[in-house]
Amino acid sequence: MSAQILKSLGLEPVNSGTYLGHGEWSKTTDAGLLQSINPSTNEVIAEVHSASASDYETIVKRAQAAFTTWRSTPAPRRGEAIRLCSEALRTHKDALGSLVALEMGKSKPEGDGEVQEMIDIGDFAVGLSRQLYGLTMHSERPGHRMYEQWHPIGLVGIISAFNFPVAVWAWNSFIAAVCGDISIWKPSPKTPLSAIAAMKVCNDALKAAGFPDLFFLFNDAGTELAATFVDDKRVPLISFTGSTKIGRIVGERVAQRMGRSLLELGGNNAIIVDQTADLKLAIPAIVFGAVGTAGQRCTTTRRLFVHESIHDDVLAKLVAAYKQVEKKIGDPTDAKNLMGPLNSRDAVQAYLDAITQAKASGGKVETGGAAIEGRGNFVLPTIVTGLSNDAAIVQHETFAPILYVMKFGSLEQAIDMQNAVPQGLSSAIFTQNLKSAEAFLSASGSDCGIANVNIGTSGAEIGGAFGGEKETGGGRESGSDAWRAYMRRQTNTINYSDALPLAQGIKFEF
Ligand code: NAD
Repeated sequence: MSAQILKSLGLEPVNSGTYLGHGEWSKTTDAGLLQSINPSTNEVIAEVHSASASDYETIVKRAQAAFTTWRSTPAPRRGEAIRLCSEALRTHKDALGSLVALEMGKSKPEGDGEVQEMIDIGDFAVGLSRQLYGLTMHSERPGHRMYEQWHPIGLVGIISAFNFPVAVWAWNSFIAAVCGDISIWKPSPKTPLSAIAAMKVCNDALKAAGFPDLFFLFNDAGTELAATFVDDKRVPLISFTGSTKIGRIVGERVAQRMGRSLLELGGNNAIIVDQTADLKLAIPAIVFGAVGTAGQRCTTTRRLFVHESIHDDVLAKLVAAYKQVEKKIGDPTDAKNLMGPLNSRDAVQAYLDAITQAKASGGKVETGGAAIEGRGNFVLPTIVTGLSNDAAIVQHETFAPILYVMKFGSLEQAIDMQNAVPQGLSSAIFTQNLKSAEAFLSASGSDCGIANVNIGTSGAEIGGAFGGEKETGGGRESGSDAWRAYMRRQTNTINYSDALPLAQGIKFEF
């Protein structure tokens, strides 16, 4: 099965992890070897050679050269390049979705869904390529015109997390490409094969149509080259997706060189279920949000606030649903399974440590709470009650399927608790009460970048801007006007009169 998937995507048992441009993959074999591990079995799927420092230099120089022509290519023509990438991804969706499931551990429908997100953002980028609008302004001076325009920013550095091994790259690189930028990608060392496969699919499509190199790739077995990348002044924008811990380091280093960073970091997302909620909607949304991708989404539901009058009923329904999910935990490439493994043994240990800490803090495990014996990294989805929102473990993002369920009396109290965490990514309320919904969405409601009504915290669409506040980093990617992060704004004033009036009526006569 795995050999078949690799073959259909042009992958070998040992691969170069570095695309140097000009159709060339690096021949470096002495800069570290990454193993791509199947988290369902902990067996090696294939190996990937890391980039050397000299490979990195070649990439940056070739990317700089590519930028000098790409920035002047008309934006709709740039859109055509991305249209071809979307088309190629449609052709390879099944194989790439299977590889994502195999290597990351998410279920096959979620793996396919991730590739669909790439296709969707590609389509969005094609339309965007004709809509990179600036504003015009009325000048305060007679005979003058003012407007702003958006120019490509240059090289865009993308550093991505393991849990969305291909979509995050497309969110960034496809938008960057229509904006006139060239991108360089350093993927997670836990998912190097998915990255190589995605690059091959897109770069082959570009090459066949005679487009230049728009996307470069290097893998790093350690973090030395990644750190060089972060510090590199030739890369004006670093788009980083990952933990708050590493994102803080990256953000500080990029700021030190006055670069721009786009940070998409950890979440600690909550759902509020009030006494009017339609539980036919709420229960499946909570279960999908907490258990989907085995709790390894940045938007995973980690906290649940239930009105005290319906708390016991909701809890009983959730426990019953979790017992059903338990029967469908297994090989994620088998479409009948709902939940796959955690990505690594370390993640299983972090899950077990969190449960130990929750119990020590007075929490009660209502269901789950253990790893599943066997060769893969499978764990039981877990519900914990009896903790307060300010317990240290509740405040922390444990990247695993653990849901902390808490009671509330008033909506105000629920919103206060939902906001009282360091992170600010995604949030939701289930209610039939219009006033409660509007209060939740108001300026004094949820403080998150994403706030939903009668729909859960995870599974964002690409059309909206995606990202969060506080320790989630403040970045926005994907739809709406997130493209502006990949461009530089220029304000232009044109004097078509015969006089030289100064702004603010200043007189300067000599
Ligand atoms: P991570 O922070 O461990 O790694 C992310 C990336 O940073 C990897 O490519 C890694 O190799 C790289 N890295 C590590 N040290 C570095 C350094 N010193 N300099 C530069 N790069 C370095 O995160 P992870 O475990 O892969 O992913 C899970 C985390 O990502 C969770 O916290 C999750 O919430 C977050 N995430 C956020 C979003 C979002 O959009 N907000 C999306 C996906 C994942």
